[in-house]
Amino acid sequence: MVSSKLHINHLLMGFLLAMSVSLTTTVFLFYTGERMATQHSPLIDAAMEIKLNATQGHLWFEEILSGDRNENIDKVWNYLDQADWYASAMLEGGTNDKGDFFPLTDPEMRLHIESVRTALHEFDQVALKRYNNRQESHPGSDIDQAFDRIFTDLMGKAEHVEKLLNYSINKDLNNFRKMALLLISLSVGISLVIAYVLYRLEKQRQAHISAIEKANVEIQKTHTELNYLAHFDSLTGLPNRTLFKDRLDQALAHAHRKSAHVVLLFIDLDKFKAVNDRLGHISGDQVLKHTSKRLQRRVREDDSVSRLAGDEFTVILPDIDSTAGAMDAAQKVSSSILQELSDPFTFNGNTVFITASIGIAIYPQDGKSGDELLINADHAMLEAKSTHKGGFLFHSPEINQRVQRQLQIENELRSAIDDDQLIVYYQPQWDVQSNKLTGVEALVRWNHPEEGLLQPNDFIPIAETSGLIEKVDIWVLESACRQYREWRSEGLNPGKLAINISATLFGRQDLIHIVTRNIAEYCILDGELELELTESALLENSEHTQTLLQQLRSRGIHLAIDDFGTGYSSMAYLRQFPAKTLKIDRTFIKEIHSDKAADAIIHNMAELASSMNMEVVAEGIETRQQEKFVRSLGCRFAQGYLLGMPMSSDELRTLMISQTEDNVSLLPPNSR
Ligand code: C2E
Ligand code: MG
Ligand code: MG
Repeated sequence: MVSSKLHINHLLMGFLLAMSVSLTTTVFLFYTGERMATQHSPLIDAAMEIKLNATQGHLWFEEILSGDRNENIDKVWNYLDQADWYASAMLEGGTNDKGDFFPLTDPEMRLHIESVRTALHEFDQVALKRYNNRQESHPGSDIDQAFDRIFTDLMGKAEHVEKLLNYSINKDLNNFRKMALLLISLSVGISLVIAYVLYRLEKQRQAHISAIEKANVEIQKTHTELNYLAHFDSLTGLPNRTLFKDRLDQALAHAHRKSAHVVLLFIDLDKFKAVNDRLGHISGDQVLKHTSKRLQRRVREDDSVSRLAGDEFTVILPDIDSTAGAMDAAQKVSSSILQELSDPFTFNGNTVFITASIGIAIYPQDGKSGDELLINADHAMLEAKSTHKGGFLFHSPEINQRVQRQLQIENELRSAIDDDQLIVYYQPQWDVQSNKLTGVEALVRWNHPEEGLLQPNDFIPIAETSGLIEKVDIWVLESACRQYREWRSEGLNPGKLAINISATLFGRQDLIHIVTRNIAEYCILDGELELELTESALLENSEHTQTLLQQLRSRGIHLAIDDFGTGYSSMAYLRQFPAKTLKIDRTFIKEIHSDKAADAIIHNMAELASSMNMEVVAEGIETRQQEKFVRSLGCRFAQGYLLGMPMSSDELRTLMISQTEDNVSLLPPNSR
């Protein structure tokens, strides 16, 4: 609208300007032409009238005098007076029936007219004289000669005046033509300039308008993008936390009006951090993108999938009639999602196995507001993560309590590491064939200011889910290495030092640097340090594991497979990741003699290890019977309450000293 108005204004202005230039030119030319017509034409007429009347007077005079014309001589005088009137009109101006005569202004022309007038008077007088003496007048007489001469002179002068006038008029006319041509050219030129300026203005206007339109489009685009970013997650395109909250609130408001139920699923990928650490963020992003697509595949159109942050997703199942219906829907969708995620992700030549833990909260029983429902679903998810990893759990008040306690522990653990509340206990490992101390396993404890000594089971799972485990492991590694050096400097020999390494820390690219730094700083020799890893930790990234094992081996660091038998336990992977030691999990040891299958399994494990040149450590030896059994299978090494409880560094020192004093291979203290 605005733009067309501008357009018309420009045109109108240009048109008016061109019109006014043309009009001014036309008016000026018209005025000048008119002036020339009214002033110059009568002058020519007057000059001709002078000649005509003088000639008529001359003719009539001769005819009257010769008697050829029988008229009164006054007619002649009239003609001459007429001629004089015109001469006077040329000088002074005048009006008669032939029009208006304007006086000549050019002084030279005026002198010529004066001389014509003088000649006219002379002729008038010579005519009168000749008429009065007409008896003596005859051809060739003086007066006749004077009469003819004066008339010829008069006609010559009149002729000259006429010529001059013609010349002057022609000159004016030429000037007028030139001026007209100039003015017309000028007005055409000005019109062209105006047209050009208008054209430029129009161009600029259009450029301006298109720039504004472009800017508007940009602003609109930016606005849309900002709006998109404010409500959608840029990686997966799913609604973000803000939009999720909106949708949840809407679903709850609707459910409130209709007395309906809403299910909220809180989905968190298990060990996603490890994927990021091992494969890099680009691969991590790929996993998140694929996950979002898979989640969307398993929900109805009305359900809403969102990404809250990192590896946290939610699904809202709105408008469900009953509690039973809600529980049924929650269960079905959760199973379906877990099933969908169980297929490995394959991209860029990597195969990634992902599981997720899902927490479920249902409106209205698990929370009246969106925030409450979200917290409860989150708590159920955290509980699922620690007790049903890879599964789903419905929210319950007990879960809430537990999770709140876990969150509290997580918070306290953060500062506990810096406040030196963690301590390392050491559990001896024995050579059961020779009854010699062959090593110690470092096991962390938390000296909680209010709750006393906490066992790893109270806080390690929490440290694992919260990511604090890396910090704990590094702290234990350093403390144990320092302690180990201290014992060695006291002349004591605890054998090898075994440190538990979580899957998360094992996934870190810089683990080798962390370990190398410690062995260098505390002068740990080849074969003195052993890292204990669970099977699942080893399996999580085979490529990284291969490299790391190679690097560890080259620095004289041994590897032990911890809790063997509880994980994947395949021959193939044992060959793939050759470890120095295999630690048979105590769940098998516990079943010795009470479960034949356990006996057989232990037997097989021991054989397997020996066929692969691995040392076997039987964990959790609590009875003499168990010890005997493992020994009978050819297991050389064992660890357990029977042989030695996990103990403080001082207690272990005492144990080592007592061993040295006895100077012989002694039975472990518990068996003495
Ligand atoms: P683990 O590495 O398998 O350690 C052996 C666990 O078995 C220890 O429990 C030890 O006290 C317990 N144990 C040893 N002998 C017996 C026995 O005869 N009977 C019974 N019932 N238990 C026995 P603890 O110290 O409670 O540690 C539990 C787990 O926590 C460890 O299992 C290990 O996986 C983890 N852990 C401990 N310290 C650390 C650490 O610094 N870093 C990491 N990542 N994990 C640790
Ligand atoms: Mg261990
Ligand atoms: Mg173990």
